[in-house]
Amino acid sequence: MRRKILAAMLLACAMTAAAPAQELNQAIGRDLPSLMEIYRDLHANPELSMQETRSAARMAEEARRAGFTVTSGVGGTGVVAVLENGPGPVLMLRADMDALPLEERTGLPFASRARGTTREGLDTGIMHACGHDTHMAAWIGVARRLAAMRSQWSGTLVMIAQPGEETSQGARAMLDDGLFTRFPRPTHALAFHDSATLPAGMIGYSDGPALANVDSVDMVVRGVGGHGAAPHTTRDPIVLASRIVTSLQTLVSRELDPLDSAVVTVGSFQAGTKHNIISDEARLLITVRSYTPEIRRMLLDGIARIARGEAIAAGVPEDRMPTVTVREPEATPATVNTEALTQTTMARFRAHFGEDRVQRMRPVMAGEDFGRFRIAQPGLESLIFWVGGIPQARWAAANGDMASLPSLHSPFWAPDAERVIATATEALSVAALEVLRRR
Ligand SMILES: [Zn+2]
Ligand SMILES: [Zn+2]
Repeated sequence: MRRKILAAMLLACAMTAAAPAQELNQAIGRDLPSLMEIYRDLHANPELSMQETRSAARMAEEARRAGFTVTSGVGGTGVVAVLENGPGPVLMLRADMDALPLEERTGLPFASRARGTTREGLDTGIMHACGHDTHMAAWIGVARRLAAMRSQWSGTLVMIAQPGEETSQGARAMLDDGLFTRFPRPTHALAFHDSATLPAGMIGYSDGPALANVDSVDMVVRGVGGHGAAPHTTRDPIVLASRIVTSLQTLVSRELDPLDSAVVTVGSFQAGTKHNIISDEARLLITVRSYTPEIRRMLLDGIARIARGEAIAAGVPEDRMPTVTVREPEATPATVNTEALTQTTMARFRAHFGEDRVQRMRPVMAGEDFGRFRIAQPGLESLIFWVGGIPQARWAAANGDMASLPSLHSPFWAPDAERVIATATEALSVAALEVLRRR
């Protein structure tokens, strides 16, 4: 008998813990048709970086309807939606809004047919190939949930819809436009990204560095041009640039501590016009990736040193030394997940979703300008996590062969949007409720 009472008490305890979790899950389930309608609309009407006027208007309208105080036009098309709800932390939740210059080839019934012009003046198709449409739909889902649940938390929510992530302009533009001075300054920041390496519904995360420092370097290798039949009268920039490309490989293989990670990739090599002309310059476009400021510096200094050293070895005159330009305005700092927020959030996720839906992952060498917020606000607790998007059937069919699956930025990337949006809305709500827990 006593055992029965104990069992009943335990069951009651478990139910009180499980009840709010279930309630949240069910509320999101009821909202999902509406969120999917918004998702399909955003997907069919993608916009290029810093041109997200239609998407931003939808985000602003939905946040306002949920009860937030909304400011539009922050850093271009950015939206800031604030909900003040008593004393406590200030939590910033960020979604990015931009799509990519890419012609969609998913064959989805709501596939994009949009066209536009990039900032380089290129006419192009436009596609949400990075899944920022799922980010926006989940952001709206979270805004609705947290507004409806405001009796269960205390603090301030600052929900931002950011332009220009793909061009690494948006976070900076919003910061420059007073994101941390005109609006409540966050103590915590959260975001998610859909993942093309995890099955739909899984949550992945990295401790510490999650995404890399990304730098673009332009190099002009100058020689002395002339006739292709008289190389001895020239300083051939193609031969010199080829040596530079080869020597650059030693930065990672010979100069970097083997236990650290970095990438130096020459993505473009252009020179010359004709078989028998030795040109007088060659142009290299290089991407450089790392996780720490020290390694970033080592690589960038190394590129300049190798360029100059090889030019001297080739006998290039002093006034024709290579020029090396780091495109500082486009540099993206590494995105680092801070320890306390990562640990508490993942503990909550494991309790809420179960151990088998939460997976620790290796960091990636891609870039993300979410990291800029933490740099602008030292001490900010910051976390970005992944929500798996690969449809279950495709995941099963691939049988571990990741090369057979489309990646992010592929014209074929078609995530299981319903699972991404449902999981992300639930995860962000759970994480927010933990940060803004009534104390
Ligand atoms: Zn992207
Ligand atoms: Zn993205």
